[in-house]
Amino acid sequence: MVSEGANSNTLIIGSTGFIGRFIAEASLDSGHPTYLLMRPGSPGLSKTTHTIDSLQDRGAIILTGSIDDEDFLEKVLKEHKIEVVISVVGGGRILDQLILLEAIKSAGTVKRFLPSEFGHDIDIADPVEPGLSMYNEKRKVRRAIEAAGIPYTYICCNSIAGWPYHDNIHPTDVLPPLDRFHIYGDGTVKAYFVAGSDIGKFTMKIIDDVRTINKSVHFRPPSNLFSINQLASLWEQCIGRKLPRVTISEDDLLAAAKEMRIPQSIVASFTHDIFIKGCQVNYEIEKPNDIEVCSLYPDTSFLTVDECFQEFATRVAVDVSKPKPAQKSKSSTTNDFILAPNA
Ligand code: NDP
Repeated sequence: MVSEGANSNTLIIGSTGFIGRFIAEASLDSGHPTYLLMRPGSPGLSKTTHTIDSLQDRGAIILTGSIDDEDFLEKVLKEHKIEVVISVVGGGRILDQLILLEAIKSAGTVKRFLPSEFGHDIDIADPVEPGLSMYNEKRKVRRAIEAAGIPYTYICCNSIAGWPYHDNIHPTDVLPPLDRFHIYGDGTVKAYFVAGSDIGKFTMKIIDDVRTINKSVHFRPPSNLFSINQLASLWEQCIGRKLPRVTISEDDLLAAAKEMRIPQSIVASFTHDIFIKGCQVNYEIEKPNDIEVCSLYPDTSFLTVDECFQEFATRVAVDVSKPKPAQKSKSSTTNDFILAPNA
């Protein structure tokens, strides 16, 4: 039996964010009593299809406050008997989780804390700056959680399934390319691409699973392992036409990282780590506190990258069918893209 305390009261911090939206959806789908901490007038809410009312209609309990208000956090953790805290705050807020941790320690209700990770194993990966500084902050949070003795799980879900733009921190918010591909290095280094909905779905399985206490859970579905050359071919099949390929070399990525444009340079440093250095595939899962998600849930399937790309192609088709503004853009966009009949 894997259930530690199924349907634990779960608090999500960052539910209006890029990854947080998937976690909140999955929490509501899974039937966990779901508490969403939102800042007053949360700017992220306008980027989602949700409203406060629609979330409440689905059973979410909205708590208004901020991750850096320790007294408030301690109060709500106790008042609502929160057992699981999932933080999905963005890169600028990583160290605020130390304040959240103090509240968790004082409240004494929390059986599992998932800090904002949702990427690589930050104790293994070693990107250049400015990505390294973000990892150092995430490492600091890990060490503080471990020292506090709060049960934790680190979600190492690798890349979100979409085109891995090297200058866009939220790559699936835009479509894969329709004019040309940027291929990193020789395009052969592989990475794992996991659908956002699966990041949410498996995270919710993991929080109640005793096997994942104090573990890093690595998402390595074999069917979702692709090089960027393979991703490009897959997208070409979806849209029914070939696109030119432009090489972005290792030096180009390092130069983009060195520009220190935040957040673009952070993404460039991660892109270098993934597609040049192979940070997702150049180590074995062998330490006692590492576990692979497919070994935990062998009967639960992942969406394939093909399914995700087909969904993008459907969005292109919808975009093409919309009435166009009179003025035509000079660059190649979805507006001048002709969808192949078989896409
Ligand atoms: P976002 O910046 O998109 O979202 C951040 C969230 O935190 C928003 O909901 C925001 O709410 C909330 N927030 C900000 N400040 C506060 C505050 N003071 N109190 C409470 N909530 C606050 O984050 P991402 O989704 O980009 O990043 C989340 C994690 O996922 C990070 O660890 C990141 O590294 C990782 N990631 C992984 C990716 C992958 O491909 N594997 C891709 C992108 C990120 P508000 O609406 O108020 O702004």
